[in-house]
Amino acid sequence: MSDSKLLLNLQECDIKVSDIKTKLEKAQFKLDDDTEITKSKKLNTLVEDKLKEIKLNRSKIEKDIESLNEKISSINSKIYSGLIKTEKELSALQEEMETLSTMVENNEDQILSIMIDQDRYSDGLEKAYSQLSIMEQTREEEIPQLKQLISNLKSELDIALKESDDARAKCQKPALLRYDKLRKTHKGIAVSELTSNLCGTCMVSVPTKIIQELKKDITFVLCNSCQRILCIPD
Ligand SMILES: [Zn+2]
Repeated sequence: MSDSKLLLNLQECDIKVSDIKTKLEKAQFKLDDDTEITKSKKLNTLVEDKLKEIKLNRSKIEKDIESLNEKISSINSKIYSGLIKTEKELSALQEEMETLSTMVENNEDQILSIMIDQDRYSDGLEKAYSQLSIMEQTREEEIPQLKQLISNLKSELDIALKESDDARAKCQKPALLRYDKLRKTHKGIAVSELTSNLCGTCMVSVPTKIIQELKKDITFVLCNSCQRILCIPD
């Protein structure tokens, strides 16, 4: 087999190795990646805290209303107790009652708007909980699948690395030096197959003179355009 064919074989093995490594990295990343669930949990905690704050505020205002109503009722009893002697005293009490009633009304308005907020946050939280539970369930199913995939890929990688080592052992040292250098500088492709007189990688037409040289199969012939080692397919 010619040197360029041997290198092409090696390149196929090496591409397979790097493909498997990429898949392995992706699978490992996916297995380690809890970002979505963590993000969702954080958001839920924020909404839970907000809801707690709303409930606390509501109960504080409800207590205020209760105490205002108690005051109103005590003023009311005073007015009808028959103990009020002067017009002035009466009108002062009535005025106070009016002020208190206005305060109750304001507080009741606030409660109404708080209730709307509370409903909104409760609904949102319920939806968020159900979304989180779906995410957690999906993750639970995904983990064993990913672990299995990683284990399969690791076995595939062992085989591919062995094949690459075997292919490398068949090549000459100077050829390997050239191949390794070219792969580094030419996006992992050092050897390019000729396809209908075009370089199979850069797709630029290869001059007849170079093709003739290539057919002699004596030395490495490079693509005129991308400088990769050309190789005639079987
Ligand atoms: Zn080329």
